[in-house]
Amino acid sequence: MKNLALTHPDLAFDVEAARRHFPILSRTVHGRPLVYLDNGASTQRPQSVIDAVNDYERRHHANIHRGVHTLSQEATALYESARDRLVRFVNARSRTEIIFVRGTTEAINLVTQSYARPALQPGDEVLITHLEHHANIVPWQMVCAQTGAKLVAAPMTAQGEIQLEAVIALMNPRTRILACAHVSNALGTVLPVRRLVAAAKARAITTLVDGAQAVAHMAVDVRDLDCDFYTFSSHKMYGPTGVGVLYGREQLLERMPPWQGGGDMILAVTFEKTTYNALPYKFEAGTPNISGAVGLGAAVDFLSSLDRKAAHAHEDALLHHATAVLGRIPGLRIIGTAPQKASLVSFVVAGVHPHDLGTILDEDGIAVRTGHHCAMPVMDFFKLPATARASFAFYNTIDEIDKLAAGIERARKIFA
Ligand code: PLP
Repeated sequence: MKNLALTHPDLAFDVEAARRHFPILSRTVHGRPLVYLDNGASTQRPQSVIDAVNDYERRHHANIHRGVHTLSQEATALYESARDRLVRFVNARSRTEIIFVRGTTEAINLVTQSYARPALQPGDEVLITHLEHHANIVPWQMVCAQTGAKLVAAPMTAQGEIQLEAVIALMNPRTRILACAHVSNALGTVLPVRRLVAAAKARAITTLVDGAQAVAHMAVDVRDLDCDFYTFSSHKMYGPTGVGVLYGREQLLERMPPWQGGGDMILAVTFEKTTYNALPYKFEAGTPNISGAVGLGAAVDFLSSLDRKAAHAHEDALLHHATAVLGRIPGLRIIGTAPQKASLVSFVVAGVHPHDLGTILDEDGIAVRTGHHCAMPVMDFFKLPATARASFAFYNTIDEIDKLAAGIERARKIFA
């Protein structure tokens, strides 16, 4: 695919060229051009991803791994080549470290049940942070209830920051696992994960980084981060829903028992004994989401075709513009003002309930998310039931942010 950036000499990132890859961006909603600012919940798909899934469905579909016939071999090759792309995408050491799952939620549940459950003893501690998504809280609560371990949450500052020292202060000889977000979905805060992982490693604490909100915005190198597990979802990085990745350090994955039993994760089965398959198949029981994996592979190709530095700079410019223009609206308060943020703004407007705001913006064709963003402890911290959240992708424009600001002003007048 052609490099999307730098087609215009005056623009660091040619957003119009990027937008042309996304058919949905040219549709209207309620008679207005769609302004899609809900990328934190799910990003849109470029034509190349749609085509890859379509081509798979039309020409290559069969079940994988077990067939000698041509279609099965083609489907297997496509599925496994998606895995190879993901190895390179996060710089894993080998394809044994890339497990296909349904998404971040399933990846974390796999780790809690297959790694943590056998490892945790009563009195052990699992350390998370105050800003986690429920997907990185509830599975740990469940495994703590199963094992007698204790869940500890590192505090957050009023800006929505997680400070390294505050997390280190909670690490002690009972701490077995540190599980934290790379980027907060509710606030946009970028956590100092590299330093957090290093601090944990120095104390022999196993680390999981929830990268659901990171992979679309920054290059991720799991070897550089040095974490033990890294999780992400395809649908937040321009790929299809229902598929995602658990990266795991091979030595740990080797020691972990399978999470689910069934077809494909075995080498031999008798009623007396089952021999499990090798990595990564040991963790991929049953028929997987083959077309989803193919689409995810195409999403990786798409992201790799971007000038990611320029795309990131563009997203940063969107964040700065949004922070400035929304910050000038009377009664609007931005929630989450950490110095390191991904391109996302959470906010409340005095006198306008976030759900009403979301509905009014929708009339203008503007999609934002409203609610607790699956991060109720964050809402409790700020003593709010909900916020509105505008989350940007590289295909968003300054003009769209100005439309958002105008829509918010309109809502304020309705409720004045
Ligand atoms: N973690 C974070 C930080 C998220 O933002 C999300 C989804 O919003 C998840 C985990 C869960 O991802 P999924 O629903 O794709 O499993």
